[in-house]
Amino acid sequence: MTDSLISSAYTQALEVIGAVEPRIADATRQELADQRGSLKLIASENYASPAVLLTMGTWFSDKYAEGTVGHRFYAGCQNVDTVESLAAEHARELFGAPYAYVQPHSGIDANLVAFWSILANRVESPYLQKMQAKNVNELTEADWETLRGELGNQRLLGMSLDAGGHLTHGFRPNISGKMFHQQQYGTDPETGLLDYDAVAAKAREFKPLVLVAGYSAYPRRVNFAKMREIADEVGAVLMVDMAHFAGLVAGKVFTGEEDPVPFAHITTTTTHKSLRGPRGGMVLAQEEFAADVDRGCPMVLGGPLSHVMAAKAVAFAEARQSSFQAYAQQIADNAQSLADGFLKRDARLVTGGTDNHLVLLDVSGFGLTGRQAESALLDAGVVTNRNSIPADPNGAWYTSGIRLGTPALTTRGFGHDEFDTVAELIVDVLSNTEAGTTKAGGPSKASYALADGVADRTKAASGELLDKHPLYPGLVLG
Ligand code: PLP
Repeated sequence: MTDSLISSAYTQALEVIGAVEPRIADATRQELADQRGSLKLIASENYASPAVLLTMGTWFSDKYAEGTVGHRFYAGCQNVDTVESLAAEHARELFGAPYAYVQPHSGIDANLVAFWSILANRVESPYLQKMQAKNVNELTEADWETLRGELGNQRLLGMSLDAGGHLTHGFRPNISGKMFHQQQYGTDPETGLLDYDAVAAKAREFKPLVLVAGYSAYPRRVNFAKMREIADEVGAVLMVDMAHFAGLVAGKVFTGEEDPVPFAHITTTTTHKSLRGPRGGMVLAQEEFAADVDRGCPMVLGGPLSHVMAAKAVAFAEARQSSFQAYAQQIADNAQSLADGFLKRDARLVTGGTDNHLVLLDVSGFGLTGRQAESALLDAGVVTNRNSIPADPNGAWYTSGIRLGTPALTTRGFGHDEFDTVAELIVDVLSNTEAGTTKAGGPSKASYALADGVADRTKAASGELLDKHPLYPGLVLG
């Protein structure tokens, strides 16, 4: 019954869309076919449920609702209030957080809201107080200039990009690296693991206002109790960006000192990665920061995406079911199987393995750059992304690594054996790929040659796995 409902909902929706712009209907059908037919190993992606996807396609998209629940700058927001309250309530319950702000449109927005609320909460500045005024138009250009000067004196310490941190954790070209004086902590050069003593030493010397923990490409768990200890010792605010592993927190795989929410002053996240919700962001905060985070709009955000907040509520309701805990545990178990599959085939992994949802494969042992490996794998129907490894000799564009995550294929039902086969297929492709040469005859970091027949045999083998675990099995487009 549900399957046929979903099938007819999408079939009819695509007919309606196709009557206006058939090429968009065609691309939407093709995207489903492509996602169904490839091994999706991008660590930041997933497959949201039809309920979550359908919730995004409604007239809530048409509603403006700047402000907060019960305090909007537009009339007629009572239904948006219902949606936003429910999403926040589910989020508080799911993560055991005193306060949840579900308006951020993305992870980057969530981090910007967090940075501004930390500044507003901790920095004595008449200009910041003015910026918290309801009417931001009160600020003159001179105010902004002075403010920029004042903000320049605040400090942020985050994990470096090549150690696995995110752009928004103080990377210099990002606004987080411009609003603050920034320094970065890395990982131990021998083990690739976080060295808490080294982070503490850096924090003592640098004395940041904000200590950021969390990552995009670090394949290990973090002890947030230790990070909080470091923050407390130097008087910093601990901000944890759990965008990547929020699903493992929600699913109670990361508990105790591995659960950031009780230890961080502010926790930010995306909702679309391991958490398997709609594309969006969220901020969780301890009470002392709640009022400042609540001013995300108008400080950083405009109108919230009401249709996405509704989908967040649906996704959080799903994540509160016990089946989500089994899913989250399977994500971690599968990452272990994938890592073991590589290690037994003599591939090198950054940190020597994983204990979260991702592995970082060092492809230099295959004589390839990350860019070459990513392209060859894509030719064989394996979708990954290239990623820097610590002290990467090939920089952030070509890189020496491939990041692989298990959340998406775990949603499809892949288990231990399938992930072992995935490792086997990847090693086969990379072992049969040769780095190319430049026009001048030197080694190229981009061109490559995949041996004949390898793409076809990989697609045939992965096709068997994908057929065994179909994506949206009941969904048939008429
Ligand atoms: N924070 C982390 C740790 C991330 O990995 C990402 C995205 O990959 C973001 C923030 C940004 O999320 P978004 O792309 O939704 O802005």
